[in-house]
Amino acid sequence: MGQPNATMLHPEMEALDRDDLQAIQHAKLAKLGARLAAAPEWVAQFAKGGVHPKDLADPQALASVPFLDKSQLRERYPFPMLTEDVGRVTRFCATSGTTGLPVLFGYTDWDMKGLLAKQVARQLYAHGLRPGHRGYNGFGFGLWVGGLAYDLGMAELGVINFPVGPGRSDLVAEWMRDMQWDLATVSPVFLASLIRAAREKGIDPKTEWRLRFAVIGGQSVSRAFRDELEAELPDGFKSFNTYGTTEAGGPIVSVACPHSHENDEMHLINEDSVLTEILDPDTFKPVGPGEIGEIVVTTLDKQASPVVRWRTRDLVRISDQPWDCPCGRKGMAKIGRIIGRSDDMLKVRGVLVYPSQIEDVVAGTPGTVKEAWQIYVDSLEVSPKEMVVAIEHERSYNGSADDLAGTVGRALQSRLGLKVPVECHPEGTLPRYEAKAQRVQVRK
Ligand SMILES: [Zn+2]
Repeated sequence: MGQPNATMLHPEMEALDRDDLQAIQHAKLAKLGARLAAAPEWVAQFAKGGVHPKDLADPQALASVPFLDKSQLRERYPFPMLTEDVGRVTRFCATSGTTGLPVLFGYTDWDMKGLLAKQVARQLYAHGLRPGHRGYNGFGFGLWVGGLAYDLGMAELGVINFPVGPGRSDLVAEWMRDMQWDLATVSPVFLASLIRAAREKGIDPKTEWRLRFAVIGGQSVSRAFRDELEAELPDGFKSFNTYGTTEAGGPIVSVACPHSHENDEMHLINEDSVLTEILDPDTFKPVGPGEIGEIVVTTLDKQASPVVRWRTRDLVRISDQPWDCPCGRKGMAKIGRIIGRSDDMLKVRGVLVYPSQIEDVVAGTPGTVKEAWQIYVDSLEVSPKEMVVAIEHERSYNGSADDLAGTVGRALQSRLGLKVPVECHPEGTLPRYEAKAQRVQVRK
């Protein structure tokens, strides 16, 4: 690896233009194909599309490889599609398992120290973290890869790690002041509750904390919610959206740089080790700048549990100007934040509705509880007959619940072009989510 510059830890990769980056991806695809050719499960998977892993020597062949999804992995319980002997795996991580059994992914020692550590260190550096900064790792540990990934990344970069994990908000609110932490890796909802816990203890986060960086994982944060968090924290504080999945190797697919942060966008930051396709969820053809597509990932370097064309079901909009960011990253495209899942996308009376649009409206309306809202439908078909939006009013809200519901309803109508019934409940009524929220639910 080369020397870091002012904005990039690995400029020899991060500053490459699109063509040079693709040349690296193509060479790695060929190597991956040669490796998968020795794994019968992978040969069988490729054969379903009429191709063989060795065909990846020609990068055009990738488009013929069948997509991989959870059902195929579950069929191969307990160690699906492993390409290393189980004895060479040093650690297993698992998907969150919000629906059905968790699926296990193996990491060799190199997968952790040689790959994941460097991917995450690169991300932290892109946010502005430097050796000697102090980091509170508030992501979960155990089978979830989030806590592990940031432990490895902080160690790689030289950030001092306080791996408290999620919870213990009273203690964390005090330690944040006493130990002058610069970084927090947290869910947005937990960061909001840390701020609340601090205020209840008489600590002013804006003046008594030093926190300047939050790495936001687990769920995507709307612009309005992010602005609200930033207003309550020290000047210069920024909360950086990140995106990743266990299948891609961890929270390493995309992060915001200080420039893309302003536009609510993220770089595909590890494109030299994770090849990302963004495909129309109906036609599966690549979409272009400004268009919405589903993220499909192929890991290029992972030893134990590679994936080829993993369908994340997560939808994003590619930036209008994906290339040549002022931060110096030329070929690592920019995408918006995750706007929903392709299986959450609803077509209501002919209008496409993404849950993130509703989140934006809820978050932008004073008096609502930002983290609590639901979409209730009569069936989980793509085109439900009925859709109701449920929100909560803050405990301190002193208007009428009906008026607040009316305000949100009018905002939804102007945003979506669709009249949607809105119901407003007292704070604490609706479900809360630790990991990925399930905003669309059936209610008969
Ligand atoms: Zn940038």
